[in-house]
Amino acid sequence: MPCTGCRYCIEESQCPKGILIPDLFAALNAHEAFHNWNSAFYYEDVLTTGHGKASECIKCGKCERVCPQHLEIRKLLEQVAGTFESRE
Ligand code: SF4
Ligand code: SF4
Repeated sequence: MPCTGCRYCIEESQCPKGILIPDLFAALNAHEAFHNWNSAFYYEDVLTTGHGKASECIKCGKCERVCPQHLEIRKLLEQVAGTFESRE
C-alpha cells in the first residue's frame, strides 16, 4: 500500500488509541511482499506493546482526515488485525 511513512496520521490526528499506523502498515507490507514471518513477532513484541493494536481502532476517522495519500486507514487496519491478530 502506498503509505509514505510521513506519520501525519499519528502526529497530527493524535490517534486516541495510540496506534502506530505507519509502522503497522510497514509490517503488513513486509509480511505480504517477503512472507517475512518475523514481522508477526515484531507486531506483537514491539509495535503493539504500549501502543494500540489494529483491532482496537475505534474508527473515529481522525487519521484519515490528515492522510495526504487518502488511504482508507480504518479498512487497512482491519487487514492488519486479520493478518497479525488472528494467530493469537
Ligand atoms: S480511526 Fe482508528 S487509527 Fe484512526 S485515529 Fe481513530 S482510532 Fe486511531
Ligand atoms: S498519514 Fe497516511 S501516508 Fe502518512 S504515515 Fe499515515 S497512513 Fe501513511
